[in-house]
Amino acid sequence: MEKMEKKACANCFISFEDRFINDTGDCVICDEHGKKWANKNYREAKKELTGIFHHYKKRNKDKKYDCIVAFSGGKDSTYALYLAKEVYGMRPLAVTGDNGLLTPWALKNMKTIADKLEVDHFIPGNDKEELQSLYRAYFKKTQNFCEICYLTISKALGRAALEHDVPLLITGFAFKVDSSHFRADNRYCFEDAFVNIVKDTIPEEVYSSYLTKDIRAKEPFHLLHLFDYVNHVEKDIYEVLENELDWDSRNKNDKHSDCLFHDMVGYLRWVNNDFTSLALMGPAALLRDGQISKDRFDQMLANEKERFGNVDRKQLEDFLEYFDVDESFLGKNMDKPVLAEPILHGDSFTPIVEAKKDPTVSEGQLLEMLINIIKPEVQRDGGDIGLVSFQDKHLKIKLSGACRGCMIADQVMIRYLEYLVRKYISDDIIIENTKELVQ
Ligand SMILES: [Zn+2]
Repeated sequence: MEKMEKKACANCFISFEDRFINDTGDCVICDEHGKKWANKNYREAKKELTGIFHHYKKRNKDKKYDCIVAFSGGKDSTYALYLAKEVYGMRPLAVTGDNGLLTPWALKNMKTIADKLEVDHFIPGNDKEELQSLYRAYFKKTQNFCEICYLTISKALGRAALEHDVPLLITGFAFKVDSSHFRADNRYCFEDAFVNIVKDTIPEEVYSSYLTKDIRAKEPFHLLHLFDYVNHVEKDIYEVLENELDWDSRNKNDKHSDCLFHDMVGYLRWVNNDFTSLALMGPAALLRDGQISKDRFDQMLANEKERFGNVDRKQLEDFLEYFDVDESFLGKNMDKPVLAEPILHGDSFTPIVEAKKDPTVSEGQLLEMLINIIKPEVQRDGGDIGLVSFQDKHLKIKLSGACRGCMIADQVMIRYLEYLVRKYISDDIIIENTKELVQ
């Protein structure tokens, strides 16, 4: 494997390929954090959130539920469920994607929380053998497996939304303190990529039951990441979970203890020489956001490194058996499949490079050009993108078609747009994915 040149970020200490470090020595994540989150006006955001909730309370006043919360039993989704119910007075249905890998700890925690909050909890079942065949097929080509879990969540949310006529879907994704979302230099449709990867080995009737793209293209869902509106402060979250909800925090340092193979997620990135050092990511996110001191950071880091060095053998063996691979397969340098064939190349953006030389062309016009250039690529995948407004360096866009209501759109679409805007137009434009209220 060709060795990548890496440099540590001056701010959060994560190592990156050179191209992800800017002139001041900061990484793209710190850079984006400073622009988007550090000065975020949460008072305004909360007002907006209250308006959104008010709309759906009214819309669904004669129905049993007015929102659906994606619920894994982990700390973020538990806190999101608590906020929706207790703080904003919503009538949520908690929905869990049955990914086949839920731990007894997570199931117990979910039951405790749902009972305590008096919230109905729905886990639509999936066929265990079919799921395992999907995990195996996907993993053998990519050495990743979390995507299958995302599909089960998406499927469960879509099913619940249709059944109960609830368009508002809430997640506990916390982009501010999640370091795993990099600026992407290509885009792909998550479900198309999945199909490309499994279609040779899995019958269509099996994999197609995990797709929600067609439903999303027709049904208007409003997917809302709650922590885009409410500040995500880890200390406050644990306080509520432990003091008010009897949440079992025994495994609170294990970020994915809701999954049987949570240690493997980190381990696989580790052995794959992924371009960040994973042990740093959780602590780095908190350090970047000013939630912990440098001393606490160093201490957390030492713990994390020790944890990675001691991957649980039993879990590793169960993993190898479940996925039907030998240990030597992990970290094997393989030709990973192309997630989507891009139709845009560097020269597609030449018109912008040219137009930028003309001082009479405004940034707003450049952004409009850029969005029109990428539009066909998004439309090819059944989605669409449009510019809503551009004011005070703040670009608002709207995704529609199959991109609307997609759980991964903020990660694969917005990050891609961010990459293009930084590269071709300006370094200080903030991008927001606005979502229409469903009537
Ligand atoms: Zn950084």
